Amino acid sequence: MRLVLVGPPGAGKGTQAERMAERLDVPHISTGDLFRANLKQETELGLEAKRYMDAGNLVPDEVTVGMVRDRLGDADTEKGFILDGFPRTTAQADSLGGILKDKGLELDAVVQFEVDDEVVVQRLLGRGRSDDNEDTIRNRQQVYRDETAPLLQYYADRLVTVDAVGEVEEITERVFTALGKG
Ligand code: AMP
Repeated sequence: MRLVLVGPPGAGKGTQAERMAERLDVPHISTGDLFRANLKQETELGLEAKRYMDAGNLVPDEVTVGMVRDRLGDADTEKGFILDGFPRTTAQADSLGGILKDKGLELDAVVQFEVDDEVVVQRLLGRGRSDDNEDTIRNRQQVYRDETAPLLQYYADRLVTVDAVGEVEEITERVFTALGKG
């Protein structure tokens, strides 16, 4: 399956993406993880991304889309993939559509993780990542509302919505049920 996960920061996308990837035997592709790996290795791309990540802003599309295009060129994505954190704007969604179209492929579904803002702030403050301070969290929530939420309309024809409040295992089951694979 080729899936995209959408939801506000702290909705548990990363955790669910891992579990789904294992069950579906497809790679989990997280743009946030790719940026953090680049940052750790001090690549040019990582250093470029850092200032945006630190502020909770989106890394520019030229950088982000190129990174995803490269990753989707790897052979392990031929059996499918789970995209976590990409696309985050309708422009990125257009780019993804183009990348897939060139390969004759389409997304099977877009899974929306629904959570309350307050639940999310508490979760994020407990996570302790360097971009998890309160100001950055608030900015990331704002960026989500302004830039990413429009994807829910964009993908309305393949959107599957899951209540993402609850136990990890329970939410995974909800996802597979919603995908018709429960
Ligand atoms: P995440 O781990 O998904 O919360 O992403 C952490 C940070 O990486 C975000 O706050 C952005 O600065 C950057 N980032 C991740 N994915 C994207 C994307 N699709 N477009 C632009 N920036 C991104």
